Amino acid sequence: MRLSRFLLPTLKETPSEAEIVSHRLMLRAGMIRQHASGIYNWLPLGLRVLRKIEQVVREEQDATGAQEILMPTIQSADLWRESGRYDDYGKEMLRIVDRHERDMLYGPTHEEVATDVFRKNVKSYRALPQNLYQIQWKFRDEVRPRFGVMRGREFLMKDNYSFDLTYEGARHSYNKMFVAYLRTFARLGLKAIPMAADTGPIGGKLSHEFIILADTGESAVFCHRDLLDKPAPENVDYDSDLQPLVDSWTSLYAATDEMHHPDHGVPEGDLVSARGIEVGHIFHFGTKYSAPMGATVTAPDGSSQAVFMGSYGIGVSRLVAGIIEASHDDNGIIWPDGVAPFDIGVINLKVGDAATDGVCADLYGRLRAAGKDVLFDDTDDRAGAKFATMDLIGLPWQVIAGPKGVAKGMVELKERATGERHELSIDSALAKLLG
Ligand code: ATP
Ligand code: MG
Repeated sequence: MRLSRFLLPTLKETPSEAEIVSHRLMLRAGMIRQHASGIYNWLPLGLRVLRKIEQVVREEQDATGAQEILMPTIQSADLWRESGRYDDYGKEMLRIVDRHERDMLYGPTHEEVATDVFRKNVKSYRALPQNLYQIQWKFRDEVRPRFGVMRGREFLMKDNYSFDLTYEGARHSYNKMFVAYLRTFARLGLKAIPMAADTGPIGGKLSHEFIILADTGESAVFCHRDLLDKPAPENVDYDSDLQPLVDSWTSLYAATDEMHHPDHGVPEGDLVSARGIEVGHIFHFGTKYSAPMGATVTAPDGSSQAVFMGSYGIGVSRLVAGIIEASHDDNGIIWPDGVAPFDIGVINLKVGDAATDGVCADLYGRLRAAGKDVLFDDTDDRAGAKFATMDLIGLPWQVIAGPKGVAKGMVELKERATGERHELSIDSALAKLLG
């Protein structure tokens, strides 16, 4: 992508409405623009990151055997009357009446719809287990939308719903998601800690929130120090017994404010007290929805049984902000590999200089031919402005070409995370970037 053609409305000034660094940087880097309170437009740079995160989430879900579907954003209120949640949900639910006076709503979550999909399409225990996921927009009419996409009213969530014949089966489904979440957040460059959680309006007894630590987090959290450097699992066999792995995490104390209790048993020096951002939440709630909604299957003994269910959410749009909270410096965002909107920025310091133009065009072409996403700064801005923009938008690598270096056959390679710059021959720079 040529920067001269790219819609990147960066801001020099710090927008006064933004209280936290991720919100400031998302506005300054031209990733999002507010449409209405808690509702945002995603501009090209922001959307690229959102899509990258979605893709990591999707790959880790697929690896567990979960299947992607897409349920509607607008739902029928009748389903929520069946589960008994229509009246309970309160003002966070955006209620809509259609032209035939039917009550509809913009989905704040999808337990009812997923249960309905299941009951209409699965009749026998033979089809179990099932785990269906989607990546879909939600609307919750939050009292206090704030911090940009961190707490929006409209937000993108990955949510899935598991269906099992037995509690043991459901427990395995829960454990699969627990492990998949650890892996997903690690791939996003985040240290997310699973914490015992309250189940709230979703219901059920078994529940964990996945929390990343950040000073700007909205909740107070407590955990054992050892959780901070516990590595995420690799090479997981999702068909094996995952309980020991899950236990190795849950046996270390970790709790959010509501669940924190004084007799936690962690020695004084080992207890970390911090603030956290909830990026994921998993629940097992048994037959809370399947029983009232008649989501039953024929069991091996011929009886009809309500299925055991769980639901699992990841705040995909919140993660964009969460990653920035965890990875930035005074100059801007530092994207971890894998979620960066482009892999490499190529900066032409002297547009119009034939030799420099030639080298840049060559670099741009070869990097793209090798499958890299490249943002090519072919504008005639001043060098200082170009550097500031590249640092602000946080691409992992910058290749800087100017007439002096080019005359010697050299370019500069800058790594955003460390700020290190090296002068290299064009071929060595390419080898380093493609290696
Ligand atoms: P919170 O406690 O932050 O209000 P929640 O517990 O109500 O969130 P869940 O129902 O657990 O949210 O939703 C699953 C995930 O969706 C959350 O872990 C979070 O990452 C994300 N999420 C929830 N509400 C919002 C929101 N208003 N804006 C952005 N992401 C959200
Ligand atoms: Mg939650």
